[in-house]
Order: sequence, then structure tokens, then C-alpha cells
Amino acid sequence: MDLSSDFITRTKALLGEEWDAFVQALNSQSPTSIRINNHKTEKPLLDRVLWSQSGYYLPQRPSFTFDPLFHAGCYYVQEASSMFIEQAFRQYIAEDDVRILDLCAAPGGKSTLIADIMGEGSLLISNEVIRTRANILAENITKWGNPNTVVTNNDPQHIGKLEGFFDFILVDAPCSGEGMFRKDEGATSEWSIDNVKLCKERQQRILADIWPALKTDGLLLYSTCTYNVDENEDNVQWICEELGAEVLPIEVKEEWEVSPSLRDGFPAYRFFPHKTKGEGFFCALLRKTSDEGSLKRRKDKEKISKSIIPFDCKDYV
Ligand code: SAM
Repeated sequence: MDLSSDFITRTKALLGEEWDAFVQALNSQSPTSIRINNHKTEKPLLDRVLWSQSGYYLPQRPSFTFDPLFHAGCYYVQEASSMFIEQAFRQYIAEDDVRILDLCAAPGGKSTLIADIMGEGSLLISNEVIRTRANILAENITKWGNPNTVVTNNDPQHIGKLEGFFDFILVDAPCSGEGMFRKDEGATSEWSIDNVKLCKERQQRILADIWPALKTDGLLLYSTCTYNVDENEDNVQWICEELGAEVLPIEVKEEWEVSPSLRDGFPAYRFFPHKTKGEGFFCALLRKTSDEGSLKRRKDKEKISKSIIPFDCKDYV
């Protein structure tokens, strides 16, 4: 695999002596995994994804488009590491009557997972800002078939106006995609330090925009499929300091080989392909401790909007 020298320098510094094993994993075949729809199909006799109750590995990648069960929503082809968000739900969202927002939801992997495990009286708003991707999301959600899920096509800023509405928000943020290098060669060629910086700024903007919509004491799960600390731990710290949150632990079993936060002081969960059977993934669970971050940012925004900024759809790429 052709990795940029900047990526090598930065990621080697993060991984230390694990670097060689990591590169070897990047050059090996990506595993194929599915999550079954418990309402439509039986549990198959396949190797399980350890951190998921419905996730399985396939021995090889079939041609899904020729399988009627795929089109009927009997299973979803989902990358195994990202199924870990199930743990945050099972450990913290036990109630039946919960309002959930999946803010960056297309094509729908995590929304279909949440729809499967949320309690009966709960509501899932599955949102995607890019219209064409929102159509694909709606198709996948329809195929999955949970009546308590609504698909929307809004900018985070607009949903942010629903003050204190949601108990749980998932921000599976658009990122530099380092964790997808093995699956998507385009991600390798598009990578640059400037793009990491741009992604980090966009992630902070998305988080600040949606923050008012989260109840005080509500939970926000922040995730990316990238390795660098800038878009991961740095942003978690930024949420705590700028918006007002504390980070909550998620219980993990040792045999899952999940790696810890690369910063001291708070828990976060990292998946590396040389340790876990899946692609790169990061997540951290935060609890909103105050509304002061929302108020402060609203005042800052009012000041800015008096001077500039027309709507710019380039922002959505
Ligand atoms: N959660 C999805 C899943 O599990 O299938 C994957 C989401 S993907 C990592 C990030 C999503 O964020 C993309 O669908 C992308 O279109 C969307 N996005 C891009 N720019 C955005 C922005 N400025 N605000 C909100 N969402 C954005």
C-alpha cells in the first residue's frame, strides 16, 4: 500500500513498536462482516463479531447485489469495528422511551444497528445532510423496517435549534478516513495533513452546532474511522472544555483487544486492524454536564453572523 511519508511519520509516532504489525495488517485482506436483522432472519452459523450480538464474519465476500435477502433487509453489510457502538447503547441506554439522533447517518450502518436495539417507545431521527446520500439512507432504513425511525435531510445547525430535545446523539463524523485505507484506496491518495486539519475544524463545527439539541445529562457518542489524535482525543478534550461534558467509560472484555485512549485523563476506544478483526475506528462517550457551552457559542455566533458568512454547500463535501 502506498502511504504518504507524512502519514507514516505521524502514525509511527502513535504506534511505536506496533508499527510493523500495523503495516502488515494494512497489506492483508479486509474481513467481510454483516449484522443480521433479528426481526427478519435467524442467527447464522458463522464466526461472531465479539462485541456485537448480531454481527458475523463471512468466510469470503460474496456478490451481495445478487442476494435477495440483502435487498430484503435481512442483513446489513457493516464493518465489524464500528459495531462496537452497540456497547455504549446496551450499557447506558436501558430505558424504553428515548429520543435518539444519528446526525451523520448515511448510508445507515449505525442507524440500523440503533433501530434494532433501542427500546420500543423510542424514536430515532436518522439524519444526513447530503441529499443524494439521504436518499440512500432512506432506502436502507426502509428495507430494515423499524417504524420508529424517521429519516431527515438537515444541516446540523438547523437540528441544533431543537434545544434540549435529544437524550442521545451519535456524531459519526466525516473524517480523514485513515481507518479505511485497506478498504478504500481513494482514502490513501486524498490524505494530507491539511485535510486532517480541515476535518478537525469541520468536526468541531458540527459538534458545536448540534450541542444545544442535547439535553443536559444527555449522552453524545463521538466516533470516527481515523487514527490521528487531532480528530479523536483532541476533539473529545475540546468538547469537554468548550461545550461542557465529561467522558464516560464503556466496559470492554480483554479478548476484544480494543486499544485505549492515546491521551491520559479520559477513556476512549480504538480499533486497529493488527489487533482486532476489522478496520480502524475510534469512539468516546460523553455526558453533557452544562448548557454554558451552548450559550457561549450562540453569543459568539451572533457576533460572527452580523459580519459575514453566506451559506456554502462546499462545506458538505
Ligand atoms: N454513520 C454512517 C454509517 O454508519 O453508515 C457513516 C457516516 S460517514 C462516516 C459521515 C457522514 O457525514 C457522511 O454521510 C457525510 O455525508 C456526512 N457529512 C459530511 N459533511 C457533513 C457536515 N458538514 N455536517 C454533517 N454531516 C456531514
